[in-house]
Amino acid sequence: MIAQTDRQTDRHLVSILVPCYNEEAVLHQFYERTSEVIAEILAYDFEFVFVNDGSKDKTLDIMRELREKDARVSYVNLSRNFGKEIAMIAGIDYLQGDAAVIMDADLQDPPELISEMISWWEKGYDDVSAKRRSRAGESFFKKWSSHTFYRLLQHLTNIQIQPDVGDFRLLDKQCLNALRLMRESQRYTKGLFSWIGFNKKEILFDRDARAAGTTKWNYWKLMNLAIEGITSFTIAPLRAASFMGCLLAFAAILYMAYIVIRTLIFGGDVPGYPSLISIILFIGGVQLLFLGIIGEYLGRVFNESKFRPLYLVKDYNGEIVLNQRKGNRHT
Ligand code: UDP
Ligand code: MG
Repeated sequence: MIAQTDRQTDRHLVSILVPCYNEEAVLHQFYERTSEVIAEILAYDFEFVFVNDGSKDKTLDIMRELREKDARVSYVNLSRNFGKEIAMIAGIDYLQGDAAVIMDADLQDPPELISEMISWWEKGYDDVSAKRRSRAGESFFKKWSSHTFYRLLQHLTNIQIQPDVGDFRLLDKQCLNALRLMRESQRYTKGLFSWIGFNKKEILFDRDARAAGTTKWNYWKLMNLAIEGITSFTIAPLRAASFMGCLLAFAAILYMAYIVIRTLIFGGDVPGYPSLISIILFIGGVQLLFLGIIGEYLGRVFNESKFRPLYLVKDYNGEIVLNQRKGNRHT
């Protein structure tokens, strides 16, 4: 089933990709702990690729410092905060490994899992993702909302989106190249991981609470990501509008027939104002809702049709980047 690979025989480079936004509180700790782990994995070379996503604290200074003492460290300094999804594709564009492990800087993704991921990769899996067994330090509401969202997305799309799987995963070069081809600016990376296919393997782990610093997410951002997830992978809501329209039209015809017949038999009468108003309000509401949904998709078309680069890089390892080719829509 699994294609023959040279993953066990040749010496390979594994990149550790870390998008960072205001992570001064944990970055040193992340580097130390991850370095310890990879020091034990002798059969591979490693590189760290940190992406500074427009941090406003000392994150960039720490990256510089780390690069000075460890040549395996590279950093991509974005020109402003672009969000984690874009920071990830920037890192993927710049990293050089034969495989890459995407990790959060806050040590919620235990680096100890890297060796297990690599061993599955050696066996021929292309996308080894870490599935959360538990979610320490997260509120009941956050757990519930994310569960509900995955269920909904699953029902609406044909693509198997993996529940309880984050961005923490090892990707083979082939997957990385596939992701590099997908240049949409409104990215729902979790869906893209599923979309590309290849041999997938899930391993289980316990997600710890953040080591230090604060989460960059809030419910507003999460809700936006949820809408992104749905609108970038399915036109089911638009179809729902069509079905709803048909259903309402059909009901209206039945009701009309009923009124005509009733008037013919019992004669006309004026009452019926309350039912009239409620029907008008109901249909008006439904129309506005679906106009909003159509607008949502139109907005996506608008954003994608501008063909701006996905991100701009201020410097790569301290070298000013003048040619923004890497961030371009067409690679
Ligand atoms: N992150 C980023 N850009 C952003 C927000 C977050 O690069 O605009 C990074 C952040 O530094 C961290 C990772 O994405 O390495 C996950 O962020 P966070 O821990 O805040 O999210 P949570 O774990 O709470 O979902
Ligand atoms: Mg986190």
